[in-house]
Amino acid sequence: MSARAGIVVTGTEVLTGRVRDRNGPWLADRLLELGIELAHITICADRPEDMEAQLRFMADQGMDLVITSGGLGPTADDLTGEVVAAFQGRPLALDEEMEEKIWQILKPLMKRWSHLSEESIRASNRKQAMVPEGALAIDPAGTAPGLVVPPAEGRSGPTVVVLPGPPRELHAMWPAAVASEEFAGASAGRSEYEQDMLRLFGIPESEIAETLRVAEEQIAGFEDLEITTCLRRGEVEVVVRHGAASDSWPALHALIRERHGNTLFSEDGSTVDRQVFDLLGGRPIAVAESCSGGLLSARLTELPGSSGHVAGGVVSYSNTAKAELLGVDPALIEAEGAVSPEVAEAMADGALARFGADFAAAITGVAGPDGGTEAKPVGYVCWCVKDASGTVLARDIRMPGDRTEIRDRSTTVAMHMLRRLLRGEDLPV
Ligand code: ATP
Ligand code: MG
Repeated sequence: MSARAGIVVTGTEVLTGRVRDRNGPWLADRLLELGIELAHITICADRPEDMEAQLRFMADQGMDLVITSGGLGPTADDLTGEVVAAFQGRPLALDEEMEEKIWQILKPLMKRWSHLSEESIRASNRKQAMVPEGALAIDPAGTAPGLVVPPAEGRSGPTVVVLPGPPRELHAMWPAAVASEEFAGASAGRSEYEQDMLRLFGIPESEIAETLRVAEEQIAGFEDLEITTCLRRGEVEVVVRHGAASDSWPALHALIRERHGNTLFSEDGSTVDRQVFDLLGGRPIAVAESCSGGLLSARLTELPGSSGHVAGGVVSYSNTAKAELLGVDPALIEAEGAVSPEVAEAMADGALARFGADFAAAITGVAGPDGGTEAKPVGYVCWCVKDASGTVLARDIRMPGDRTEIRDRSTTVAMHMLRRLLRGEDLPV
């Protein structure tokens, strides 16, 4: 059986949603890479009773490993170390070597905190250097050391890895935790497997579900595959975990390719953003948007180096802006409406010309919440992608969903149209 793990995220700011949890998902990915099965992520407040209750829950559920994030700071409300020490039956003791290490970090900062006495800083220094007996202390990335705390001799239960809340510090300290003997001991039962990801676009999730039903009947060893499908940003992602020598994964891969070849755009986990970036190969692209409010431009510039080929974008809501910045003929807007395939193409032409680009993408639509008409309701969006030689792909559909979803998915559609244009493919009918 593979080792099982739980993650306890602490912090009232995370619990209340003021700070979005970034540590849970990050740790989930790392555990997945290690072949450790993640069973639970819980979020609790900073109160010691709440943290203790979470540790109790994880132990009751038979977790081999628990990872906590947060509550390692110098202040009185940072209690994770104490709670974990008590839970594991290992009393805290001052680690003098660690105290000195932290002091060396704090000393240069003293100048900035001239209003604080050396005495009080020394006190919080000592608090952070308290390590449960028999536990491993991990050198701090900020000022708080991490801990790997196995249960006390003669006790059973999970080993608890204690990491700080700030994501940068947690990331920096994770490798040392994984490299420890204590961690290896707790995750001994981990299984060796690989993970593959397929991405499809322009297909409902139900069709993949149908293919998986067929696969279950046809493919020997199908039950050994762990398959997760999800709908994300208008794409279907299929994640498959399998043993390294599995025959059933290549068989499933072949079946999906055979049944969904025209919508399967990524077989190596690459995103459409990455593919468009690579296909552009540094050639300049420009964007003209209305309803997506600059999101396509933002998305195109997300990958490092992309500002080299994204020449620029125009976000034009008013007809005047469309006319003056993109050279769209006001008579065309008058005749066809600002949200129309004709205006989308004129916007793409304008972006090509205005930025001297090789490629352009244009989006105009009604994202809501209001503003739709019977002929052009909320969700009606027109796209046009075009290259400087005049090759053009265009599309207009009505999308379901709220404003955020419409805007987000309209950028996904544009990315896929760009991909097809760059590959010299036409759109599927
Ligand atoms: P510090 O010494 O900074 O207090 P700490 O280990 O006590 O370290 P917390 O007090 O729990 O950490 O969190 C400090 C800050 O780190 C939070 O205010 C928040 O900005 C960030 N942070 C904490 N936990 C998370 C999380 N799960 N996801 C994203 N950010 C987080
Ligand atoms: Mg803190």
